[in-house]
Amino acid sequence: MIRMILTIVSVVFIGSTPFVYAAETALKNESLEKTIKGAIADLIEDNAAFAAWTPDEHFQSFQDIQNPRVTMVMCSDSRVQVDNFSQGAENDIFVARNIGNQFSTTQGSIEYGVNSLKTPVLIFVGHSHCGAIKAARGDLNQIAPAIRKELLTMDVKAAPDENQAVALNVHNQVEKALADFKEKVESKKVAIIGAIYDFRNDYGYGNGQLIIINLNGEKDPKKITNSHYFDGLDHVKVGI
Ligand SMILES: [Zn+2]
Repeated sequence: MIRMILTIVSVVFIGSTPFVYAAETALKNESLEKTIKGAIADLIEDNAAFAAWTPDEHFQSFQDIQNPRVTMVMCSDSRVQVDNFSQGAENDIFVARNIGNQFSTTQGSIEYGVNSLKTPVLIFVGHSHCGAIKAARGDLNQIAPAIRKELLTMDVKAAPDENQAVALNVHNQVEKALADFKEKVESKKVAIIGAIYDFRNDYGYGNGQLIIINLNGEKDPKKITNSHYFDGLDHVKVGI
């Protein structure tokens, strides 16, 4: 139908700017329509498959209460997913996401995880090639107000490059969380971890690695590695 309309429009406006504009717009709309339908279909079908494959018993243990061990603060970036760090995140990882994996912009959710659900681990996960970091280091006046508001809470301009800015941002978030959960950390009820998920080997540990860069404010890789929390873990990557 859209193609028919395009043909008619082309007869009327052929060679003129209005035709080019109308054709491009119609094609873009057609393609966008397909994308929207495809994305919705994937969500519906993937959920239907999940519901069909998963036996009722699977849901029973958490139907009345959740019991996560970890509060995870992640960037909203679609390339970073909980599945990258867990083979069983359901009822185990309480997730708060925002642009730039920040404490301030989602403080209430984090406090709910740590104080109400009492997760003993709080982890901030930054990532390579983070758009929020790049934006926060640029001219914020060019950015729409609601987005700017969430970026203003980041303080990463002092870092010499983007990779180090990602790390600095994680350290900043851990510092803010330490101030909020000071007592819990001091009494060892909570461990706060800062990490970077690297999906393009920017930090030299390999694609897809989670690199631990901060433990309760400690940034020295040797001291972090010596923590008993990492005893016996062959695959732990600590550094940058
Ligand atoms: Zn990001």
